[in-house]
Amino acid sequence: MSKALLPPPFSSYGLVSDREQTWRATGYDSSNRSRWKRTLIMNREIHGSCLCRKVKSTIRGPFQKFYQCFCERCQKRTGSAFAALVVTSRDNISWQSGKDLVKRFDLPEAALYSSCFCSECGSQVPYVGRGGKVLIVPAGYLSDDPEIRPGGNIFWEERACWFDEGQSARTYSGYP
Ligand SMILES: [Zn+2]
Ligand SMILES: [Zn+2]
Repeated sequence: MSKALLPPPFSSYGLVSDREQTWRATGYDSSNRSRWKRTLIMNREIHGSCLCRKVKSTIRGPFQKFYQCFCERCQKRTGSAFAALVVTSRDNISWQSGKDLVKRFDLPEAALYSSCFCSECGSQVPYVGRGGKVLIVPAGYLSDDPEIRPGGNIFWEERACWFDEGQSARTYSGYP
């Protein structure tokens, strides 16, 4: 076996996390960690898919915003309490499959409101906003950690009447 095919010596792994190893493999410099980490996040490709996995794409950062929208429209669209939406630039997506299955709905009475979903399984999928500048990515579509966290609960006054009490309901690890 040539030397190039040998695994690195065990000691080179040391006691570092998988994430730290990834950082180091891409040129991690501890003296400028935050700038370096920002660059990594900007360049990372994050995988996403719908529930039936026919629609698949990768998304690139940087992510500009992460909102949880409690508006009545998002309640209708998601069938749930809120929509979790990550925002990036419109071209930061590469489609792997299923783009022809994506159906778009532009709410006629709204200036900006849209929804895109897999016509096979109904999952929300990424779409370019009606303004044409941003890509709106449903956070649940992402299979990897986008490394951005919600920065705002918007349209809070419209939240469902049952939402607040639901936050303190008893938890179960599966079906009760
Ligand atoms: Zn699907
Ligand atoms: Zn909304």
